[in-house]
Amino acid sequence: MTSINFVDVDRLQRDLEAIVGPRRMSMRAVDLDTYSRDMWPRLLIAYREGAIDVPRPHAVVWPEHVREVVSVVKLARELGIPIVPYGGGSGVCGGAVPIQGGITIDTKRMQQLRSVHSDELICDVEAGINGERFERDLERRGYTFGNFPSSIYCSTVGGWLATRAAGQLSTKYGKVEDRVAGLTVVTGRGEVIETDGPNRALRGPNWTQLLLGSEGTLGLITSARLRVSPAPQLRVFRGFEVDDVATGLTAIRRVLQKGLRPAVVRLYDEMDTLMNSFGHKEEDEAHEVRGPVPPVSTGALPAWPAGEPPK
Ligand SMILES: Cc1cc2nc3c(=O)[nH]c(=O)nc-3n(C[C@H](O)[C@H](O)[C@H](O)COP(=O)(O)OP(=O)(O)OC[C@H]3O[C@@H](n4cnc5c(N)ncnc54)[C@H](O)[C@@H]3O)c2cc1C
Repeated sequence: MTSINFVDVDRLQRDLEAIVGPRRMSMRAVDLDTYSRDMWPRLLIAYREGAIDVPRPHAVVWPEHVREVVSVVKLARELGIPIVPYGGGSGVCGGAVPIQGGITIDTKRMQQLRSVHSDELICDVEAGINGERFERDLERRGYTFGNFPSSIYCSTVGGWLATRAAGQLSTKYGKVEDRVAGLTVVTGRGEVIETDGPNRALRGPNWTQLLLGSEGTLGLITSARLRVSPAPQLRVFRGFEVDDVATGLTAIRRVLQKGLRPAVVRLYDEMDTLMNSFGHKEEDEAHEVRGPVPPVSTGALPAWPAGEPPK
């Protein structure tokens, strides 16, 4: 691990306050502690056992505009200290842990769903929006992004993009990287790049795909143009009992190879089946989804016909 420059904390505080104001930056111990970790299990266990020192950031900021992010990044560059983008902090790989201190940039105050273009089926959304709120905002307008990670309630769209998150309905909608038209990113030099903008490189690497999954190491994503789908008008759920896991796998393979695309297919082994059978009420076979009617009617989720999975 390389060490960073000596940090003049008085200057850091003064300059950050000049950029975002005193209420949207903090150097208080309670905030620095909060931003010292994500949900990486090994790290959490080590903290609990007191096995390692907690690496805290020098400061935390909550910008609301791209120009504020640019100024903070330029300040960090001038001081020779790292920046750490931070969304919901639900990452499980330690990517948001400030191992060398520096400035943690929490994106959660950049949280607007700016627009949904019904012709292109593309929305423009800020990176710090909470995943569940994003889906609800889209659903109110008759759309879905279709990415439902188990952590949807505690993660951000920017975090999904930075980690290439995959959701429960990815069989139908794809993983997050399949749904991105373009990103707005602030680089480590403080430049603003739009990967789908007029100046995008016509040759050379695909910057969108390069930045996806880069865990904040190549830049901070401030907003994204994402592909949306009409929200489903009907959700149909089916459960089938099979003799063993191998038979279940064969059935699923046949379904997908026939070109059928259920929104999700899950296979439970014997133990999971037993555990899931506790405390569940019988559900209706199909649920009509209430809410705004989507502008086009192709959103119904395909499902296996009642009875048996296709052979
Ligand atoms: C209970 C639980 C269930 C989970 N289920 C799933 C699941 O079903 N599928 C799945 O894929 N993952 C899952 N995860 C992992 C985690 O939720 C995902 O990786 C999620 O995408 C992280 O989003 P976040 O906003 O919390 O990001 P954070 O944890 O804040 O950050 C994750 C990484 O992305 C970087 N980053 C965050 N925001 C930005 C940004 N705007 N620009 C650039 N870099 C950024 C951070 O620096 C860090 O490296 C789960 C985690 C938990 C705790």
